Amino acid sequence: MASIFSRIIAGEIPSYKVAEDDKHYAFLDINPVAPGHTLVVPKHEVDYIFDLPQDEYAELMAFAKKVAKAMKDVMPCKRIGVAVMGLEVPHAHVHLLPINSESDMNFFTEKKQIPADEMKDIAARIFNKFEENETSHPEIF
Ligand code: AMP
Repeated sequence: MASIFSRIIAGEIPSYKVAEDDKHYAFLDINPVAPGHTLVVPKHEVDYIFDLPQDEYAELMAFAKKVAKAMKDVMPCKRIGVAVMGLEVPHAHVHLLPINSESDMNFFTEKKQIPADEMKDIAARIFNKFEENETSHPEIF
């Protein structure tokens, strides 16, 4: 059975998309630790990220780097933090989080309730910056 992330990628389940290419999809986490909390997923469904073939792992991380760049450009934060867990959804993914301190990487914190229109706005801002970077500044990658 397809994972929930494969169903999101297929458009069967709605998501707040922030970036996409032929092999990857990025969208806002529905239970964010912080505003802008993003998941970066390979379209090829593999359970555990460190079981990905070497080239697919490298491509996923290169795509995540571009998403992180767009996030950093539009979200007020010091850094984009990176985490891998995969305890809940058996489809490889990387968490990207706008952070200002170590404590912002706390996944035990109460999840933020962000209204749908705000989620939509955050996703649109990251999406537009990602697209702009792709077309105007491909050299930064
Ligand atoms: P983990 O597998 O432990 O890395 O956690 C999976 C993450 O996916 C959690 O942070 C969930 O909030 C998130 N998640 C689960 N279902 C959805 C969904 N339909 N849309 C967006 N994020 C989701």
